[in-house]
Amino acid sequence: MKSRKLLKQKNKILPYSRQFIDSNDIKSVVNVLKSDYLTQGKQVPKFEKNLTRFTKAKFAVAVNSATSALHIACIAIGVKKNDRVWTTNTSFVASANCAAYCNAKIDFLDIELDTYNIDIDLLEKKLKVTKKKFLPKVIIVVHMGGQPADMIRLFKLSKKYKFKIIEDASHALGSTIGSERIGSCKYSDICVLSFHPVKPITSGEGGAALTNNKNFFEKMSILRNHGIEKNRKNMKNKKRGDYYYEQQLLGYNYRMSDIHAALGISQLKKIRFFIKKRNKIANLYYKILKDLPIFLPKKNSKNTSSYHLFIIRLKFFNEKMYKKIFGFIRSKKIFINLHYLPINQQPFYKKYSRKLENLSNSIIYSNSAFSIPIYNGLQISEVYFVKKTLQTAIQKFSK
Ligand SMILES: *Cc1c(COP(=O)(O)O)cnc(C)c1O
Repeated sequence: MKSRKLLKQKNKILPYSRQFIDSNDIKSVVNVLKSDYLTQGKQVPKFEKNLTRFTKAKFAVAVNSATSALHIACIAIGVKKNDRVWTTNTSFVASANCAAYCNAKIDFLDIELDTYNIDIDLLEKKLKVTKKKFLPKVIIVVHMGGQPADMIRLFKLSKKYKFKIIEDASHALGSTIGSERIGSCKYSDICVLSFHPVKPITSGEGGAALTNNKNFFEKMSILRNHGIEKNRKNMKNKKRGDYYYEQQLLGYNYRMSDIHAALGISQLKKIRFFIKKRNKIANLYYKILKDLPIFLPKKNSKNTSSYHLFIIRLKFFNEKMYKKIFGFIRSKKIFINLHYLPINQQPFYKKYSRKLENLSNSIIYSNSAFSIPIYNGLQISEVYFVKKTLQTAIQKFSK
């Protein structure tokens, strides 16, 4: 690395992830702005169709965020007060909040320290010792950073213990399990995507719920629009005029606008390119970071990752050291981040900790892991700058 180049980079912030917008994206959005419909036009159904084409799911419901998609997914599956919902302790809080919205009882599951996904062995043990009436109605599984969780084993357990599966695939559009794309719902009931700017593709804000189940699809479709049914064949009163509509459930306004959908459509066209670029950066990190005292994310030869995040873990650490290394790297304008603090330690979730669960891996993880920059538009020289800064930080504070 030439020092002149390094110098130049000092003033540029490198986020852990960011959007990639080109002139086609801008054109698509401008076209909608000039059209008759900014919302409830043709863009949302088109985006949904393209999402089903890409993922091979039968149905898609586009909404204004992944959080909304998770919420209506829980309702569609029938999560009610005091039902049990289990999810990973290492995720964004939205993975649990959706169950809290339904007044469910939430239990957190521990993770593996090499993939950062739900530890299926521990889950199986927990299922075995749980009284039948306390078994989960739904398990919400997250594909951390884009690396698919072990869906095949989870799916088998769901048959044995009769729970439903929601995939929070906010990180994982473009990842694959064997020959299946994430979103195909082969091993789940509903799969949720996020189109927030840091995610694999963006619509500004936005999300979608994919499913192969027609009932879930129809229910989610009306839940996103106040619970209003507009399809005459599904109405209770079929004889009224064209002005007639029916509110059948208590729904929400979780609609996606056509402006957002147009951006989503344009971005989805580039997904293969995005994933390829992120994989290229990931492979370079695997190569140049292998001699540092850190753990790199474990790969699974049968699956591929979207590499929404590239998460590394310090081999030697304590809380103080972690804080210092984190601060030092940020001071060099590399905006690393922790994904995520254990959800059960959030003040809001303290009340959910009925008994002391052993979630030690998620705690170890939160004192040793961080996401380093990975996104389309990250330069190779910047990847080396990240390595050098990381190396310096570890050397400086690992004493
Ligand atoms: C980003 C994210 C969400 C929420 O997505 P929004 O579209 O911002 O609502 C939920 N779960 C996970 C794992 C996420 O990373």
